[in-house]
Amino acid sequence: MTLAAETSTPLDSFDSLDPSSGAVLGTYPVQSGAQVEQAVARAREAALWWQAQGWDGRRRHLRAWKGVLARRLHELADLVHQENGKPHADAVLEIVLAVDHIEWAARHAPKVLGPRRVPSGLMAANMAATVEYQPFGVIGVIGPWNYPVFTPMGSLAYALAAGNAVVFKPSEYTPGVGRWLEHAWQVAVPERPDVLQVVTGLGPTGAALTRAGVDKIAFTGSAATGRKVMAACAEDLVPVLMECGGKDAMIVDDDADVGAAADAALWGGMSNAGQTCIGIERVYATDRVYDAFVAELTARAKEVRPGSDAQASYGPITMPGQVDVISRHIADALDAGGRATTGGTIDGAYVSPTVLVDVPESSAAVREETFGPTITVARVPDAQEALQRTNATSYGLAGSVFSGSRARGMQIARQMRSGMTSVNSVIAFASVPGLPFGGVGDSGFGRIHGADGLKEFTRAKAIARQRYALPTPLLSFARSPGLTDQLAKVIKLVHGRG
Ligand code: NAD
Repeated sequence: MTLAAETSTPLDSFDSLDPSSGAVLGTYPVQSGAQVEQAVARAREAALWWQAQGWDGRRRHLRAWKGVLARRLHELADLVHQENGKPHADAVLEIVLAVDHIEWAARHAPKVLGPRRVPSGLMAANMAATVEYQPFGVIGVIGPWNYPVFTPMGSLAYALAAGNAVVFKPSEYTPGVGRWLEHAWQVAVPERPDVLQVVTGLGPTGAALTRAGVDKIAFTGSAATGRKVMAACAEDLVPVLMECGGKDAMIVDDDADVGAAADAALWGGMSNAGQTCIGIERVYATDRVYDAFVAELTARAKEVRPGSDAQASYGPITMPGQVDVISRHIADALDAGGRATTGGTIDGAYVSPTVLVDVPESSAAVREETFGPTITVARVPDAQEALQRTNATSYGLAGSVFSGSRARGMQIARQMRSGMTSVNSVIAFASVPGLPFGGVGDSGFGRIHGADGLKEFTRAKAIARQRYALPTPLLSFARSPGLTDQLAKVIKLVHGRG
């Protein structure tokens, strides 16, 4: 049964399709709630073994896993190309970044999460205070299809490095990639393959994972599905990490390098056929650079083309239904008085690189996530107005600033309401493993990557150990009234001066 097929009876299997041809690439089981629960129960057992490996053991196993990905990189990239449609070279880039994240997480976990002394303070001078970050146990990871290796890896690698077992539900559009990652784990860690398990299926299998007794859900996908996931998790107070969509903007300031900005906007907006959560969908260029920027972007966009051949710049739209969304956004922009300086055409699953100008801010092309190779460009009087418009969205995932001044670029970046911003670059933060990745507002909350990403898959554990007994105990019914008076005097002395 293909995903496109309409049915009212539950499926027991589904096909993964090549988005460029519709050819069936593989058939996968739709796993039931009971099967998902069994996977979580196995993961819970495996988590004990995994935790017993300690930092060094986990690092060794994660490096073995990383090694399989690195050695069989082209095999995995072929699979990503087939299921998602992106060019092989882009798939390679995605996997390279994912491998780097496994190494970072494995290497830094002990330092970030291991026990650390904190000052015990005036009131508890006789105590030794320690904080450490303990794994939750079993993490349920629900992933999308657009970066089927890189995106879930931000949860998988960091959750594993923190000492958790993982049950991963890949997107129904890229189940083969999910299975491949599980297989790579089995090759790398044959003694305990169930530390990382994959369950396949459609939305209901993901929903089953949220109710299968996991200790946390790491969700990456649309804000609409994210709301459903949170509602399900609320029933049992299961914590959630939400990595949702975006409507990222680029600001091009008066003194920006216009050629570099156009190049970055083009790649940020159109690579992977624009199906990038942190892709550039809007540009605000100041009056001074607007004409030059639109001319540069248009000229460069005319040089790229979609296709499934080796020379194509980007591939087809992966989900057939998304073509309708892109088409509606383009039509809405043009109906509202906008103009396509290039592109605007759709041929089956292939959308031409599209640059839209003079589009009202109220248009769907400016307000909603398009997830296609389209960019709107608006003229603004100055960077302040650009910031206001950038921030006037319910999303807040990432963004980009082009400025000739380092100080000004940093200032604009700080004021952008988003979890991540690149200055004089695009998407660069995702390739720095030490930087946290995540959004605000409808783009979600919580962080993958970096130290924050490791902590996301742990609970802080505080321990206060008495080093010596006080002559008169403070936390006891035996406390003398005189001690309370002395305490009040000390506090007045220390804190009462302001
Ligand atoms: P989606 O929300 O349709 O699906 C995401 C996953 O959720 C899939 O595995 C799906 O099977 C599962 N799912 C569906 N219904 C569910 C339910 N009721 N309960 C539990 N799981 C359920 O998203 P998509 O189309 O796969 O991905 C595209 C979206 O993901 C875009 O909005 C994109 O911006 C976003 N995204 C965000 C990030 C990020 O890091 N912030 C990264 C990549 C993609």
